[in-house]
Amino acid sequence: MQLIDLMPELEMSFDAFQRHHRLDMPAAREAYRAVFNGSHPLSLLPISQVLPDGDAAKIIFNVGQRIDAEAGIREYLEIESVILPMKNFHGGRWITLCISSQIGCRMGCEFCQTGRMGLIGQLSAGHIVAQVISARQWLEENRPGNEIKNIVFMGMGEPLDNADAVFSAIRRLTDPRGLAYAPARITLSTVGRIDGLWRLAREGLPPVRLAVSITSADDGLRNRLMPINRSAPLAELRQTLLNLPRSSRGRYLIQYVMLKDVNDSLTDAQLLADWCRDIPVTVNLIAYNPQDQPLFEPSPLDRMNAFMAVLKGRGILAKRRATICQSQMGACGQLGNRHLHR
Ligand code: SF4
Repeated sequence: MQLIDLMPELEMSFDAFQRHHRLDMPAAREAYRAVFNGSHPLSLLPISQVLPDGDAAKIIFNVGQRIDAEAGIREYLEIESVILPMKNFHGGRWITLCISSQIGCRMGCEFCQTGRMGLIGQLSAGHIVAQVISARQWLEENRPGNEIKNIVFMGMGEPLDNADAVFSAIRRLTDPRGLAYAPARITLSTVGRIDGLWRLAREGLPPVRLAVSITSADDGLRNRLMPINRSAPLAELRQTLLNLPRSSRGRYLIQYVMLKDVNDSLTDAQLLADWCRDIPVTVNLIAYNPQDQPLFEPSPLDRMNAFMAVLKGRGILAKRRATICQSQMGACGQLGNRHLHR
């Protein structure tokens, strides 16, 4: 697998950059900022395609190729980022960028298109950071005035399955001399890799927000929907969230993909409420987004509302997440090249 070359400086801390280039402080600051402002072609990922859906858009990046010499096949490797326009009740508008951390994913969640690809390859920190720089550049050229305020690691891949690269990318994204995102504006979403969660706490990473995908609070069902549960069952995950130092991370976002007649009954809601007890959470209910060969159906709105009412009745903050970019297969659980499978 050959990943495309990017500037090695995209992965350097400011101190390493200054040492490497032997610059004085003002010159180093200026040069370091230039690495991240999109002015250099090697800090950008080539765009294969942009699929707009209203104000949202899925950007497909080319990250390299792999050659199967035996079969005489060359395949282009692609990852996806999604531009998500957001607004609040007070009229505020901003862009959230959903980025990928891997090419494919090996976690095998049953409701996810990327999971069907298997893991094709790991992205480097540079490829992760370059998605942000490239998306900013695309917005500047095509939709001026739109600024990426939030970044979510909710695209292709399980971030904690590529922790070295993701942690390094988070350091670059939050470096005040580089892209300068506040840690609270970055959300890392995981299926619950307990080892990764502890590493995140131990390594003194900037306090990004954490989202944990649950999708069922019943071990039997979660074993089937999210195979990670077989090695990291719900009780262990719950204990980890209770024990992790949280400092300024705020509440955990608990992601729950709602699948009609599978995990959306009132009993399922009670189980989830029990699981959340004493953990500072906001539960995000996400309607299942159908894929090219859907295995499930989305829960109807009235059932989602009834589910949410149970959670609220138990004192748990809960909201429904609106689906964005569904028609371009850019919504949650829909990312991934359906033709590229391992
Ligand atoms: S939901 Fe996330 S972790 Fe699960 S298969 Fe999809 S990309 Fe991987």
